[in-house]
Amino acid sequence: MDHVVGIDLGTTNSLIGVMEAGFPILIADANGARLTPSVVSFQNDGAPIVGQAAARMREVKPSETIYSIKRFIGLRGDELRKGDADVSYTLERRRGQPVRVLANNEPHSPEEISALILQKLKSDAETALGHAVSRAVITVPAYFNDAQRSATKRAGELAGFRVERIVNEPTAAALAYGLDKLEGRSKIAVYDLGGGTFDISILELNGGVFEVLATNGNTRLGGDDIDRALLKSISDTGNRIPESLVRLSQVLIEAKHRLSTEEKVAIDVPFFDGAKSLHLDLAREELEKVARPIIEQTRAHCLRSLADAKLTSADLDEVILVGGVTRMPLVRRIVAEIFGREPNTSQNPDEAVAIGATIQAGILSGAVRDVVLLDVTPLSLGIETFGGLMNVIIPRNSTIPIKAGEMFTTAVNQQRSMSIKVLQGEREMARDNWPLGQFEIEFEAAPKGVARVGVQFEIDANGILHVLARDTKTGGEKIVEIDSAVDVSDEAVEAMISESLDHAFDDMSERVWTEAKVKAEEMLNAVEAAFAQVGDSVDAREKEMIQQAATRVREALGTNDTRGLQAANAALDEATQGLAAALVEKAMQAAR
Ligand code: ADP
Ligand code: MG
Repeated sequence: MDHVVGIDLGTTNSLIGVMEAGFPILIADANGARLTPSVVSFQNDGAPIVGQAAARMREVKPSETIYSIKRFIGLRGDELRKGDADVSYTLERRRGQPVRVLANNEPHSPEEISALILQKLKSDAETALGHAVSRAVITVPAYFNDAQRSATKRAGELAGFRVERIVNEPTAAALAYGLDKLEGRSKIAVYDLGGGTFDISILELNGGVFEVLATNGNTRLGGDDIDRALLKSISDTGNRIPESLVRLSQVLIEAKHRLSTEEKVAIDVPFFDGAKSLHLDLAREELEKVARPIIEQTRAHCLRSLADAKLTSADLDEVILVGGVTRMPLVRRIVAEIFGREPNTSQNPDEAVAIGATIQAGILSGAVRDVVLLDVTPLSLGIETFGGLMNVIIPRNSTIPIKAGEMFTTAVNQQRSMSIKVLQGEREMARDNWPLGQFEIEFEAAPKGVARVGVQFEIDANGILHVLARDTKTGGEKIVEIDSAVDVSDEAVEAMISESLDHAFDDMSERVWTEAKVKAEEMLNAVEAAFAQVGDSVDAREKEMIQQAATRVREALGTNDTRGLQAANAALDEATQGLAAALVEKAMQAAR
């Protein structure tokens, strides 16, 4: 049978699995480990080593050892935030250019580094299975945007995989927990706190189908932050910290892990400074004091996702935990507090996503049936229309894959082309949303309002947006795949949503004003055109009335009184009834 493997390409750890005799099995490497650190280290001759062996090199060759590469995949230099570049290797970050890593005196794209990790997983799997594997399902955080998903897919291809599907991590996790076996329309929250990303998703099971009702999260929040905060707190308490922090960092990470099951651990770093040693006791309580503010940041995301799904925690049937950090008792307490119930911890939290990816791979290869996965769009997608308004084509939180379209017409006589500006965001005015791409569609010149352009948005199963514009008259069309999208971090998504709430009133007023303005300009042009055509058949008194009404509209356009403009529009509309009838009459005569 043609095997499809499931892969969790994590910030910290990556895993690979395959369906065997109807069960998802995670594949161990030659050392028996199922978690492969997502680390690549370049040796002096330039040859890369990957995984556990590379992780050990962080101490020895910090500048040549690449970790947390997932933080940079699909991002441009100007999109890195303060703290992001806080890694022991060198990043090349240029405005508008993809971020690259400098190692071994050479620049490498994050895709290339990720491909090395994927290649290692692939070759471990091939060794264990005794045959080649070429097809894969790879998971990504639910909040990954187009560019990040496309870059992940490219990484898979570079590693020699045919990437069958990019699946959201929380969706995969729900499958691993076997929640597809729940009765009725069960609702589930998936809380995933990993090394570098936090995702919260609310899923609904409906007739054997998973639907993601809402997703929220932060692609820059995780165990790494706890590690940094812990290191800082230890140096703040007067301990002398060595020049190279990597050794100490690793000891602290091990201590953090042990404190998930032990109350107190002794930390010993002999001769870290060549001569001096470090000895100290660390209690779980102290770790929790440092970690609490970081974990507390997840609360707002959880509440927002519930609000987006229009649910309260009482509506949830299960809350499941995913990601290594959720082994911490403090996380379990905070999650229980947020959702008012004990979370389900029946799965290994750092393996659940890979297990789910493997089940999804089994579905694709025909080894598992009866489950379909659906995801949602995190932000609305649309295009700019007349007056600079945002015209939403696919609303936020729509289930994907999805296809939606709308018909647009020209604003100007004899217009020969239309510029399609693709936008993402929740604001009413186009300028306040994020531009994803822009292209021109050409068509035959025609009077204003006659040319028609159909615009269709399609988001495929991988979450990649395809925009199609078609001239309905000639059938000429243009299709653009938006994968060089402006990369949107989840913090920016959050900011977008809260801004749209803050500005809801002003935005709405501006939209109503703009709509009235567009209508006014349209009517003024139409009146002029009608006078030119049938002006003779209208009597002087009526003409006078129309001109007065038109003048009032022009005057109202110069104010910022929306109601006044709307009233003037209505009066002009009323005054032109006879003129419109004359136009119709003339058209009918011409047709006879
Ligand atoms: P990712 O999805 O980002 O690859 P994982 O789910 O593998 O991450 O989680 C890795 C994070 O979990 C790391 O920050 C690691 O230190 C943390 N972690 C792993 N095991 C434990 C534990 N027992 N207690 C606390 N944190 C843990
Ligand atoms: Mg993960």
